Amino acid sequence: MELITRNKGAEDILPSESYIWQKVEQAAAGVARLYGFREIRIPTFEKTELFVRSVGETTDVVQKEMWTVKGRESTYTLRPEGTAGTIRAVIQNGLLNEPMPQKIYYNLSAFRHENVQKGRLWEFHQFGAEMIGAAAPAADAEVIAFVRELLDTLGIPAKLHINSIGCPECRSKYYTILREYLSPRREELCDTCRSRFDRNPMRIIDCKSEICRSIAKDAPMITDNLCDECRAHFDELKALLEAMGIDYEIDPKIVRGLDYYTRTVFEFISDKIGAQATVVAGGRYDGLIGQMGGQPTPALGFAMGMERAILAMKALGRDFGEPDTCDLFIASMGADEQRFAALLANSLRREGFRAETELCGRGFKAQMKYANKTKCKYLLVIGSSELETGSAKLKNMATGEEMPVDLKDGFAERFMDIFNADRLAAELG
Ligand code: ATP
Ligand code: MG
Repeated sequence: MELITRNKGAEDILPSESYIWQKVEQAAAGVARLYGFREIRIPTFEKTELFVRSVGETTDVVQKEMWTVKGRESTYTLRPEGTAGTIRAVIQNGLLNEPMPQKIYYNLSAFRHENVQKGRLWEFHQFGAEMIGAAAPAADAEVIAFVRELLDTLGIPAKLHINSIGCPECRSKYYTILREYLSPRREELCDTCRSRFDRNPMRIIDCKSEICRSIAKDAPMITDNLCDECRAHFDELKALLEAMGIDYEIDPKIVRGLDYYTRTVFEFISDKIGAQATVVAGGRYDGLIGQMGGQPTPALGFAMGMERAILAMKALGRDFGEPDTCDLFIASMGADEQRFAALLANSLRREGFRAETELCGRGFKAQMKYANKTKCKYLLVIGSSELETGSAKLKNMATGEEMPVDLKDGFAERFMDIFNADRLAAELG
C-alpha cells in the first residue's frame, strides 16, 4: 500500500527529539513564572474576521498567509499567531476587570501559508507572552527583560533591536512625510507595496523585495518624527534597559509586520540560524484591545519562534542532556517469570522508577541486546532459578558491576538505595 506522507511545511517531532522541546518549554515556563506570567490555552481556529481586524488588512499575514477553512456556517482561520486569540479571550472572559496588569503566556502552534524554508514553516510553534493593562515604559522594559532572561536560559546570544513606531498621531504626520519621499518612485514599488502606499506606507520600509529596499534605503525615519509623549516613552525605556544592563541597538528599520503595534517594537536577532534570523519579535499595541471591542487598555507582548530557537541552540552546540532511558529492564523467560517481572516492575514504578519488562517474546540474548541498545541503566534477569531461590543479580549496565538482590523482600527499596549510591559515585567521579 502506498504511504500517505506528511505535508511540506509541517514537521514531525519524534520521540528522539521531543525531549528537547520539553526542556525548552519547561525552561520557558520557568522564566514566565519568575516574571508572574500565567498560561492561557486558546482555540486553534477563530473567526477569520478576528485576524483581519487585529493583525490588519494590509499585512502579509492577512493578505497572503492565512489558512482559512470553510465550516458549515461560516469561514474560520487557523491562528497565524497567538496575540489575537489571547486578547479575544481576555476581553470575552472578563479578564480586563481583574487586577492589572494581567500577565499571560502561551505555547501554541501557528499556521501561515508562506514559502517553506529553514525556519519558515506552514505550521510552526510560538512561545509568547502578553502584558495587559500597563502603559508605563517600565512594562516594556520588564517584557524585554523577560525575553532576555529566556534567551539567556536557553543559551541563545541574540541581539536586541528596538525601535519606536509612535502612536497614531505621530504616525499620521510621519506618513505624509514618508509618502512625499516615496512618491517620485511610487510606480517602481512591488505590487504589495504599491497597495500599501496609501494605507500603510511604513510597511514599505519592512518589505523584503530588492527594489523596495533600495527605494526605502534613505527614507525619513519615524524615530525622527515622534510626538513628545512617544519620545519620552522611548527615552525612558532606553534608560531602563541601560539601568538593567540590557544591551540594545536602535534599529529604525524595524516596523514589524503586524498592524497593531504602537510605540515600542523589538526583535531579538541571531546570526546562527541563516536567513530567518529573528528568534523573538514583539512590541506594544495600545490600540488593539479597544479596536477589538474591549475597553481601551494598553498592552504589549512578544512571541518566540520555537523552531528558530531550537535551530539556534543546535547550531551553537547547546547541551540538551541525554534523552531519558529506562532505569531497570527486567528480562524474563517463561509465563511465571514474566508475571513476576510485571509485578516487580509495577512496584518500581510506584517508587518513581521507569521500569520495563519483556513484551515481545524474545529470548534472553535478544533481550540483553535490547537493554544495551536502548541504554537501560540496570538489568535484572528472572529465570526459573531466580524465581525459585528468590534472589538474583542486579547489573549496572554502565559499570558492568553486579549486585546480589533479594526479589521477595523490599526489592524496590533496595533498588532505590543502589540507584542513588551509584548515581552519587558517578557524580563524584
Ligand atoms: P518574518 O519576518 O521572519 O516573516 P514575522 O514578522 O512574520 O517574521 P512574527 O509574526 O513577529 O513574525 O512572529 C514571531 C516569531 O515567530 C518570528 O520572529 C519567528 O521566530 C516566528 N515565525 C514567524 N513566522 C514563522 C514561520 N512561518 N515559521 C517558523 N517560525 C515563524
Ligand atoms: Mg512573516
